[in-house]
Amino acid sequence: MNEPSMRTPTPPPVLLEAGAAVGETARQLTRLGLGDHVCLVYERPEEQVVALVPYVRQGLERGERCVYVVDEHSVDDVAAVLEAHGVEVERERARGALVFLTQREVFLRGGRFEPEAMVAYFRRVEQESLAAGFTGVCATGEMSWALGAEPSRLELIRYESLLNHYLPGSHAMANCQYNRKRFPPEVIHDVLRTHPRVILGDEVHENLFYETPEMLLGQESEAGRVEWMVRQLKRVRAAERKLVQLGIRLSEQAVENGRLYEEAREAVRARDEFLSVASHELKTPLTPLRLRLQGLRREVEGGEEDLVPRERVMRAARGAEQQLRKLAVLVDALLDVSRLTQGRLALTWEELDVTEVVREVVERFAQQAAKAGSAVEVVAERPVVGRWDRLRLEQVVTNLLSNALKYGAGRPVHVEVEGEPERAVLVVRDEGIGIEPEHLERIFGKFERAVSGRHYGGLGLGLYITRQIIQALEGTIEVRSKPGQGSTFRVVLPRRTPSPTGRGSG
Ligand code: ADP
Repeated sequence: MNEPSMRTPTPPPVLLEAGAAVGETARQLTRLGLGDHVCLVYERPEEQVVALVPYVRQGLERGERCVYVVDEHSVDDVAAVLEAHGVEVERERARGALVFLTQREVFLRGGRFEPEAMVAYFRRVEQESLAAGFTGVCATGEMSWALGAEPSRLELIRYESLLNHYLPGSHAMANCQYNRKRFPPEVIHDVLRTHPRVILGDEVHENLFYETPEMLLGQESEAGRVEWMVRQLKRVRAAERKLVQLGIRLSEQAVENGRLYEEAREAVRARDEFLSVASHELKTPLTPLRLRLQGLRREVEGGEEDLVPRERVMRAARGAEQQLRKLAVLVDALLDVSRLTQGRLALTWEELDVTEVVREVVERFAQQAAKAGSAVEVVAERPVVGRWDRLRLEQVVTNLLSNALKYGAGRPVHVEVEGEPERAVLVVRDEGIGIEPEHLERIFGKFERAVSGRHYGGLGLGLYITRQIIQALEGTIEVRSKPGQGSTFRVVLPRRTPSPTGRGSG
């Protein structure tokens, strides 16, 4: 009758083999918690080790008291196996977290298994454990010992049914160990019908064959049985559906990962291209700057007198300044991008007039416009007042206007400011080379260009910075264009004034 629990004739190989699988069971056991009732049906000792070591370890880790019902002759074996798998048996026993129950009189009355007494005993252990500060009780028992070698079918069903009533909602869980070699198939058959979950090998199964105690005892109505079957069928379907959904989610995730990968690759490509464009752009003003200064030096060195004509010095200085301005613009754009990337675009909100800002910027561009051969026509009759950031607004107008002149093919450029009650509208239109439809969205991206670097210099940052500024001002920018006929950029900026100046006032 005394079934040696976890008795392993050659412990080292069993432990080694078990060691690898313990991890998998441990992962699956995390699904189990207080209130659960599970059975372990096993044949080989290593199957028992694989299931019980993580069960006990998990209980201890969760702060539960682990109660192991075991034959007194097997305590040392069980302790050795637990110890070998990292459980500090002595320490856990000393603090009452691990308890081996061996007093047979607790469960047997007059030499017979007594289900009610056993469950009542568990209740007491649960109360005491909670009072002692444990989070609950995780119990396991070698049933061939607890039940006796040949329990009556009714006793077993009564015991497991009592547990099914007691455990859900309690602070206890039970894992009943059944050795298939020790019990006849009809007992194992009942075991498989009385436990909501079953551990086989290193797998925890939701038990489709679990029946209510009434069904087991033949007391369930036909209608009740039909209900049970319908429930089981739905359970299988629900599990399948979960799997399918998981599969769909995973494949969506894979597609998304692929997209992110492509995006990252594209960003790296754009960055590399940018670096080569940027170094070229930064170098371009350096050559004339160097030539100017060299020329000046030579003149001073080769001159017979100490005096170099004022006009020559002035011309060299103006030329050098012009190149330095170009460099400064490039460096400013780079600094802006780095600020934007770090989300550090600080705005200074103040009341100002877009019309005035536009007129100022256009004036500054007079020389450049003349050089490009484009007349700049401004239609901005009335002041359009609102709260914005002056420097950033200037930057928006500057970028759009300089692009219009750069890509305007020497034809006229039109700038228009309109005031609506709640917003200001700025339109910059040119009649130049235009943009192919497929590039229209892309040109607002960082480092994005739709022209070849050989024909037009540029970092591909102007429109990116422009759009970022406009977004920070809570406005929008859009572009319309026909290749060969020109482009129109339309900016809408909310005024953010406490009381809008009213229709037509702008
Ligand atoms: P950059 O002008 O330095 O290349 P931008 O960010 O200002 O950078 O512009 C991005 C691209 O958008 C340009 O390279 C050009 O292809 C296109 N683009 C911008 N403005 C115009 C315009 N007015 N007409 C035609 N193409 C334009």
